[in-house]
Amino acid sequence: MSRILVAEDEPRIASFLENGLRSNGFVVTVVADGESAYQYARTGAFDLMVLDLGLPITDGLTVLRLLRAEKIDLPVVVLTARDSVADTVTGLESGADDYIRKPFGFDELLARVRLRLRGPGRAPEPTMLRAGDMTLDLRTRRILVDGGTAEVALTAREFALAEVFFRHVDQVLTREQLLSHVWGLDFDPGSNVVEVYVRYLRRKLGDTRIETLRGMGYRLHSRRRSTMEG
Ligand code: CA
Repeated sequence: MSRILVAEDEPRIASFLENGLRSNGFVVTVVADGESAYQYARTGAFDLMVLDLGLPITDGLTVLRLLRAEKIDLPVVVLTARDSVADTVTGLESGADDYIRKPFGFDELLARVRLRLRGPGRAPEPTMLRAGDMTLDLRTRRILVDGGTAEVALTAREFALAEVFFRHVDQVLTREQLLSHVWGLDFDPGSNVVEVYVRYLRRKLGDTRIETLRGMGYRLHSRRRSTMEG
């Protein structure tokens, strides 16, 4: 089991990360200031740190520089503010392994964490996900349908939504799960964006693939259903 140190001072984002990572099998410790981040990171008790740059007491960049100056090579995924290209560049130059811009969807973060945890020499993640006769190619970001004879191109958002469905074939996903996975925290929970994008996916994959379960959520079926049930 991998141990993740989360350094984030905004309680809402910290608990979003903590809950999400825990439910994916990680052991999570949260700290809310840079000094604690630095002290915890030096213990050697963690496999990766998710580091917000805007932290009180000691800012994230300083934490990162101090750790790297001590030759501590803990993988670090940095969280940067939206549009802060300078922060991102400085972060990578200061020894971050990867970065994510806020606001972010949980799946994006999870993908980065898994990638950086794996490190060199470990088995790669599968690049193809299957649902019945459909295959989602994580590299080309396309879906092959009808056993690979037809190809469907998706927009970035459609792809992100499709990926969540393909990772949970035949399972019911609630609207809230889809929102937090694909659109992240900063999205208005009253928005109908999930409905809209499910409709886009149905248009591209066929009406019967994604079922609506009223009051519960949505389900991608591995088998093609003969009738349109929702
Ligand atoms: Ca912050």
